[in-house]
Amino acid sequence: TEAHLAAMAKHKNLNAYITETPEIALKQADASDQRRAGGKAGALEGIPLGIKDLFCTEGVLTTAGSHILDGFRPTYESTVTRNLFDAGAVMLGKLNLDEFAMGSSNKTSYYGNVINPWKRRGDETDLVPGGSSGGSSAAVAARIAMAATGTDTGGSIRQPAALTGTVGIKPTYGRCSRWGIVAFASSLDQAGPIARSVEDCAIMLGAMSGHDPKDSTSVEMPVPDFRKALTGDIRGLKVGIPKEYRVDGMSQEIDALWARGAEWLKAQGAELREISLPHTKYALPTYYIIAPAEASSNLARYDGVRFGLRVPGNSLDEMYELTRAAGFGKEVKRRIMIGTYVLSAGYYDAYYLQAQRIRALILRDFTDAFKDVDVILTPSTPSAAFGFNENEGDPVQMYLQDVFTVTVNLAGLPGISVPAGLDANGLPLGLQLIGRAFDEETLLRSAQVLE
Ligand code: GLN
Repeated sequence: TEAHLAAMAKHKNLNAYITETPEIALKQADASDQRRAGGKAGALEGIPLGIKDLFCTEGVLTTAGSHILDGFRPTYESTVTRNLFDAGAVMLGKLNLDEFAMGSSNKTSYYGNVINPWKRRGDETDLVPGGSSGGSSAAVAARIAMAATGTDTGGSIRQPAALTGTVGIKPTYGRCSRWGIVAFASSLDQAGPIARSVEDCAIMLGAMSGHDPKDSTSVEMPVPDFRKALTGDIRGLKVGIPKEYRVDGMSQEIDALWARGAEWLKAQGAELREISLPHTKYALPTYYIIAPAEASSNLARYDGVRFGLRVPGNSLDEMYELTRAAGFGKEVKRRIMIGTYVLSAGYYDAYYLQAQRIRALILRDFTDAFKDVDVILTPSTPSAAFGFNENEGDPVQMYLQDVFTVTVNLAGLPGISVPAGLDANGLPLGLQLIGRAFDEETLLRSAQVLE
């Protein structure tokens, strides 16, 4: 813990933490030492973690990367962070993120950009750490957290992991409790770890998971010992290669990485099969209807009365308007407008209902594919980390970052990104594995072989 606190002081330029909590960390570390001396040690005893600032932490500023939550100190602890602390983990601080987890570059945070510790070879340009869990990925890559929590609504664990050479897993929807996590799109949101290795992810995921009566969508299922699944043996594993993921404009480099990953799995005894997920091309538009729709509803609670910021006005309505105008950033406002539009009478059938139907078809594509294969291999992202001014000004260009990841959230399946090599500029690239619902064990085992 002390070593990490010292490293955090040296790497403030990355802007990975919104709030550092050294007093809490040292207190937790002391308590941990005592437990260890008493012969008791949890799965994460003494491990210093960064917590994405979307998780409510009791008495500690929780911002969701937004101005509208100014001064919000929750009176309760999220189930996931509670589980982590019960397993012995130590909290170093709260990590920066895109505002309300909306974004793929960490640029929408009210608290400013996070800088990726990686640079292109011979080029000092600052690059994005991915998003929305950009503080988490940068902190793990820069060794200012041993591991971190993330959340993934449409790729926000896997894409930042890929862009920083770290491992990130989004478990099956329902594996981790969403209680106490600031809601973005409730039917898609899942918590998961970002860590330095597949093994670290397995240990941390085990501690985060479990049924919680306070989240009705959390599943009442035993949590396996994920670490035990890491046998290194994937003989006979059937790996699907979906032909629809060879998208327009995908670089040669990403294509080659994907082929190489498939060959590695084959060399370890896996069997490759080409598969088809025919509705893939509708996934992005479907996601960018469903996620904003749910967000517009979830964000209605920020009204200047119950949480954070309040800008006084001459009437209640004016206070609402002024508070929301000042408190939300541009991307969040864009999502609220899209969301209320697609849910409005007259457009609901054309957009939201249609998106729900396509979502069902996307899930059916996966269910059919998993009759023939055990895991599916794809690239994690269409590109390596990019500069802060690249993809600027065109929100659709940014949405395209999520082309390989959103299908997994729409289908509620587990997905993992593992570092799989460097591009020509020396930047990390990731490969994604997608698994059957609640089969994180096979996913982690196969991922470790790629690592
Ligand atoms: N980049 C996606 C979005 O902006 C995903 C975000 C997420 O997973 N939280 O919605």
